[in-house]
Amino acid sequence: MRAVQFRTVSGGPEVVDVPVPEPGPGQVLLAMTAAGVCHSDLVVMGRTAAELRFPLPLTLGHEGTGVVAGTGPGVTAVSEGEAVAVHGAWGCGRCGPCAQGRENHCPYAAPRGILSPGLGAPGTMAAYMLVDDARHLVPLAGLDPVRAVSLTDAGLTPYHAIKALLPGLTPGATVVVIGVGGLGHVAIQLLRALTACRVIALDVSEEKRELAAEVGAHTVLHSGPGAERAVRELTDGLGARAVLDFAGTPASVALAGAVAAVDADICLIGIGGGSLPVGFGRLPLGVRVHVPYWGSRSELAEVLELGRSGAVRVRVETYPLTEAPKVYERLHHGSVRGRAVLLPDA
Ligand code: NAD
Ligand code: ZN
Repeated sequence: MRAVQFRTVSGGPEVVDVPVPEPGPGQVLLAMTAAGVCHSDLVVMGRTAAELRFPLPLTLGHEGTGVVAGTGPGVTAVSEGEAVAVHGAWGCGRCGPCAQGRENHCPYAAPRGILSPGLGAPGTMAAYMLVDDARHLVPLAGLDPVRAVSLTDAGLTPYHAIKALLPGLTPGATVVVIGVGGLGHVAIQLLRALTACRVIALDVSEEKRELAAEVGAHTVLHSGPGAERAVRELTDGLGARAVLDFAGTPASVALAGAVAAVDADICLIGIGGGSLPVGFGRLPLGVRVHVPYWGSRSELAEVLELGRSGAVRVRVETYPLTEAPKVYERLHHGSVRGRAVLLPDA
């Protein structure tokens, strides 16, 4: 079968032929319908040999939808032909957080070498993939698998971040969204669907600022010199009640800290190498800094509901799986509008 693999350190993604895997006890074989392309894959492929925590080659892709094509001994929770989305944050399945479906916070995953698909275990960018346990599958129940696939990360990650902040996101409060790519353009829609906040979106790219306005940002600003002053002016000098940074670069993180109000929440979601100095006098009084990671299984079900209701609509560019190297180039150059999705059958 065809698969997109990261095969050598500092090498790019390659389209290769690999054997179709066989489901072992408890495992589910999915025939993939779609796989989303995330900026985190570029971060992973940019790592040095010393930084990589898993062996190569790695089949990429941590956003996936598919149809159950086979099951190993002992699997009863799903049946062949069922259309599902993959919840990609895999933990031990037995600890407190895992029992609550919060496998994204499993403290045993890393020490026990439990790896998520596309982030160490074989991922979604292939004709077929193995899922270690049926608990990682959420029924699509009629959702379009291509339009829904990126809800599993580009939807789930901002949903998890925003849900934790909801009690403070009162009507009229200002939320700043930095970076309107795959995650950011869904975050704006989530904020509009779940709150009556005012959303100010910033990006370095004009096309992304247009997208921000299209998906519901009240105000759109260029992310550069003058951005901090512009946000202060829009908030009577007070700053934003919450800041969601989907770039995570030194520049964006500095901006996130600079536009926060007293008692604000700052969420650093992007993995762009930036860090924010935290300490008395470094940030406004009462500020909380969050470093969220992905989301829980029940939160994925909730995001899929928002997709089903039409409240959230991922803007997708679709490509055949074989065009993955070109698609990653587009993502690297900031040319993807919304989310790029690979189709194994196209
Ligand atoms: P993307 O490339 O689609 O979007 C990033 C956006 O940020 C682009 O629109 C880009 O123009 C913009 N940007 C870059 N620098 C900026 C700046 N200084 N100011 C404003 N905007 C700026 O990427 P994506 O797939 O949406 O992922 C976003 C980030 O989130 C990546 O770093 C990714 O690795 C990370 N991520 C984190 C998690 C998590 O659980 N924490 C999950 C998924 C992705
Ligand atoms: Zn991702």
